[in-house]
Parts: sequence; structure tokens; C-alpha cells
Amino acid sequence: MNFKEKDPELWGAIAKEEQRQEDTIELIASENIVSEAVRTAQGSVLTNKYAEGYPGKRYYGGTQYIDVVEQLAIDRAKKLFNAEYANVQPHSGSQANQAVYAAFLQPGDTILGMGLDAGGHLTHGAKVNFSGKLYNAYSYALNPDTELLDYDMIRDLALKVKPQLIVAGASAYSRFIDWQAFRDIADEVGAYLMVDMAHIAGLVAAGLHPSPVGIADVVTTTTHKTLRGPRGGMILSQAENAKRINSAVFPGTQGGPLEHVIAGKAAAFFEDLQPEFTDYGKQIIANAHAMADEFSKLPQVRVVSGGTDNHLMTLDLSATDLNGKQAQELLDSVMITTNKEAIPNEKLSPFKTSGIRLGTPAITTRGFNADESREVARLIVKTLLNPTDDQILDEVRQRVHALTSAHPLSALD
Ligand code: PLP
Repeated sequence: MNFKEKDPELWGAIAKEEQRQEDTIELIASENIVSEAVRTAQGSVLTNKYAEGYPGKRYYGGTQYIDVVEQLAIDRAKKLFNAEYANVQPHSGSQANQAVYAAFLQPGDTILGMGLDAGGHLTHGAKVNFSGKLYNAYSYALNPDTELLDYDMIRDLALKVKPQLIVAGASAYSRFIDWQAFRDIADEVGAYLMVDMAHIAGLVAAGLHPSPVGIADVVTTTTHKTLRGPRGGMILSQAENAKRINSAVFPGTQGGPLEHVIAGKAAAFFEDLQPEFTDYGKQIIANAHAMADEFSKLPQVRVVSGGTDNHLMTLDLSATDLNGKQAQELLDSVMITTNKEAIPNEKLSPFKTSGIRLGTPAITTRGFNADESREVARLIVKTLLNPTDDQILDEVRQRVHALTSAHPLSALD
């Protein structure tokens, strides 16, 4: 009996999620749509295997083919980012960050990362996260006038709090980040520099955002965002840090690696190394530019910092009648998926927020071009300005259907 007949309850939920993905315009900046190769690798028999340790040095027998898989992932990651060292075992971006802190710090040490409402990640020192509980965490904000990173402000704070480690990188920052400016601050205060490039890793791999590899002491990333791989994490560094990072991942913070996911990472890195991946990255940015430009023509919404250099933007909704949560829910009802997002100097709670974050990686994988991205921006504003007009909301749904039907997910494999 097949899965569908044996467990219709579970199968039904998966099938509905597949249909939801088919029918919606996916604008969550941290999401993407992986290839059949990535899904096949991840759904393979590799999930059956325990392989604690690293290629050539395992605690279990029968790992000869697992070693080939993991070494392929490591070699491809190093090639993709021109890195001396790669650890592909972190189960997630958060666990990659946890392992790096464990490798370079002692509990109680001081870290300095980007604040949540400025666009940083929970693991960069938020009080509710292990990073803010285990370490003495301080956060830098954006310059309130420009809504940009202000390296003088960050330097002043670093000189004051004297961190052992500075975290650069963000979950919701739409501009280029100057890694060398962070390096100079870290050197001045005697701190390690960790860059979390989770969001922009695919653009870095494609040469469309300056690379932090070789500038930072250590670089972490997720593999499922612009890199278009399976959900997971990775750590890159210089060869001299290999031993301490390897030990911090296993046995420091993890047990058996998820080798089926590592196979998915290897499959994704193979795709990321192809010339077409650069074209994909360029289109991600072109689509984001098109959306930001379209929003800039409409007085009711505002793109934070006035535009974007990468795959995402935060839309400030303070001038509308909706907060971020209401906007997210309203957009869900017209099959456009986004997430609420804090704006700089946020006045509302993290459960409400005054903005939404929008990203183009998934629609670009689907084949949307710049004109279609412009239309998506117009549909968003039309929805937000007419929250109770059923006729207008129906018109939006019809256009969303036309756009998603023009780019079926089945055409991707
Ligand atoms: N770092 C950054 C910058 C992120 O944006 C995210 C997730 O969105 C993470 C780390 C954490 O990744 P994960 O959800 O895989 O733990």
C-alpha cells in the first residue's frame, strides 16, 4: 500500500501544502523553491545512517559512501565561496551560530550584534534566545536618519562595550554591508568578527554582493534561502580554525549529522556553481529593484532606507490603516505570502509591527520577470488600501491566479 492510502491524514496535509505553494505568490525573503535533485537527495536512504564524526574519522561503521557525500558537499562549498574550510553539518543557521559562539567564546563573554528591530537575527544576541542568555549581548541599531548601518555608531558602541566577538549580517537589511568596516572595528577593539550571511549567501556565491569570506574570522549561513538548498546551516572559515569549529559542532553542540540533508546541500552547491546561477541572482536583484521602484511611486507605503541592493526590502505601513500583522493576514487572503516585520525605531510590539518584509528569491525561481514583479507590488498596495472591498480583493485574487498559473511549479523540474 502506498503512503497516500496508508496515511491519508498526513498525506492530505502535505498535498494541501503543495497546492498552497502552487497557488500563492511567495514573498517571504528567507524562502525558496528547491530543485528535484535537492528533494531527491534529501528524501534518500541516507536518512537511515548514523555517521558521528567527519569524513575519514567516524564513530560508526559502514560510512564509506556517506564520506563521499559529505566530502562532495565540503569541496563544493569551499569552491563556491573560495573558502579554505567548510563545515556542512550544522542542522540549521541557528545551530551554526551556536557552534561558532561555542568555538570562539566562553559563556558570559560579550557579543555585539545587530538589534532585532534593526533587522538582526534572534541568534545575534536577542534576550529571548540562547545567544542573549548565555552571553553578555549588546546590539547596534541603524542610523535613525538614513536607516542604514552607521559604522561610526557601531565603532563607538564597540569601544564602549568591548565585545569579544562582533556579529555582522542580518535577516532584514536591504543594503550592501561593508565587511571591511566591521573588520576594522573588530581589529580596533580586539574582537573576533563573525559574519552571518544567511540571507545573501546566494548573491555572494554569484558575485553579486561583496564576499565576507577571508575578511571575517568565521562566516555562517543557512543553505535554504538564496542558496536554494535544503533547510540547514554551514560554517566557513580559514584552515587554522578548522579544529576548534569542527569540535564545537561535533561533539560540542550536535550529535549525528543529517547526511540526507548534507546530500541535499551537495546537490544545491552543484547547481550554485553553474553559470545559470549568476543569471538567477541578477534576476532576483532586478525583480527586487522593480518592486521597490513601483512602491516608491505610491505615497501610502515607504520602502525602508528608500530602496534595496539585494533580494529583499521592508515596507513601512505606518501611513496605512494596517499594522504588519493585519497586512500579512490580509495578503494571505489574496494568496500573497509575506511576513510582518519591525521597522527601524519600531513603536509596536513584535507581534504586531509596522511593516512587512518582502523578498524575491522564490518568485524569481518560479520565473517571474521584472514587469511581473512590478505588478506584484501594485497588487500588494491595492490590497492594503482596500482591506474591506470584496470586489477589489477578488480582482487581486484573479491576477494572482493568472501570475501563478503562468509559472507552474511543475515546470521547474
Ligand atoms: N541567521 C540569519 C541572518 C537568519 O535570517 C536566519 C533565519 O532566518 C538564521 C540565522 C537562522 O536560521 P535557521 O532558521 O535555519 O535556524
